[in-house]
Amino acid sequence: MVVLGTWKGRPVAISVRPNCLTVSVDHPAEASIFSYDLEGRLWAAFLDGISYRRGLNGRIIARWRSPDNRRERRWLPPDEALAVEERAHQTIVALYEAIRSGGAPLKTPLPPEGHTAFRRAIAFDTERSRADAKRYHEIYKPIGILPPDQYMAVVLQASEGCPFNTCTFCNFYRDRPFRIKRPDEFRAHAEAVREFLGAGLSLRRSIFLGDANALAIPMKRLRPLIEIVHEVYDVEGLGGIYAFLDGFSGEKKSQQDYAGLARRGLRRVYIGMEIGNEALLRFLKKPGTPDDVIRAVQAIKAGGVAVGVIILLGAGGRQYAGAHIRDTIRVLNAMDLGRSDIIYFSELVVSEGLEYARDAHRVGLEPLTHQERIAQGEAIERGLKFSRQPDAPRISRYDIREFIY
Ligand code: SF4
Repeated sequence: MVVLGTWKGRPVAISVRPNCLTVSVDHPAEASIFSYDLEGRLWAAFLDGISYRRGLNGRIIARWRSPDNRRERRWLPPDEALAVEERAHQTIVALYEAIRSGGAPLKTPLPPEGHTAFRRAIAFDTERSRADAKRYHEIYKPIGILPPDQYMAVVLQASEGCPFNTCTFCNFYRDRPFRIKRPDEFRAHAEAVREFLGAGLSLRRSIFLGDANALAIPMKRLRPLIEIVHEVYDVEGLGGIYAFLDGFSGEKKSQQDYAGLARRGLRRVYIGMEIGNEALLRFLKKPGTPDDVIRAVQAIKAGGVAVGVIILLGAGGRQYAGAHIRDTIRVLNAMDLGRSDIIYFSELVVSEGLEYARDAHRVGLEPLTHQERIAQGEAIERGLKFSRQPDAPRISRYDIREFIY
């Protein structure tokens, strides 16, 4: 429900939902907006024309539009992040005091769950925020990346790291060896995550089985881990289980395996296909071939599970640009993707020290500009044979620099 009122001559809107509390102060054009999960964590804010998202690790990303309408972003240093939280906190402390003392008259009374949500957000001061972020780091190894539709998942690290770690454009998991958790260890982790999220669990929309390649875990070891997820969480209520499958080696799962996993809640598998050109895949040192990806997608979809296929725009620069478009179209068209599937276009981000940067320099690859990468995605999209059908998959952008959990 939404409760309207006034405070210091400005309009106030308080939205009390089963999963969050959102407070908006002032007229819409200049409103300050703060959203809290029901544990009291600030998770989103809008202040002075800048939107902020706070991750469970306490980090905050600021996003805004430049005067020429480009998307801009900046990760705040810890002090600045805490300052944003503190500003939000001072506002809701003062507002709640005013509500209770009659200084902020409301048109309808705040419901009891609204009072509870306010009290929790007020108890979550900067000291609690620091302690919460510390606890997060005790529970989780760094989470390298998630697909954008999974930023609000409950991440459970059934495995850690990536079994390949060879791809020259990826350094998400270079800091740790790949390992699969023992069932007792995974149960303790799943319980610790549930306890950590507390009432904030209600804001989470799915379960994401991490890390880079949880579905590479052999079925014999994966089944007990999935059963533990069911014992600790209401999988259906949370919207099912999602995971990455990447690299394509080791035990390959069959259609029957995926059908069994679908019965135990698996909803979508995200595949970092990157490109449909085999020579470029070799250059990127990505394990597997485009045909491996097609076969994996066919088995997954035949088992009743959706896929999210991630395409890396700009990989191979100008020299591979045409081959990338041609072969990626061929491979995507061979997948028979439908309404429940997603295609993500993710721009290559070349940071200093990345092996790709050295290799590209060595062979003289000429990078594509941002506009050329976007055009590459559009050219691929135009070649997709389902692109005009009503049950076509969703096609979306994926900016790894904005990943937040
Ligand atoms: S298989 Fe995926 S997670 Fe592993 S190194 Fe390659 S891109 Fe990164």
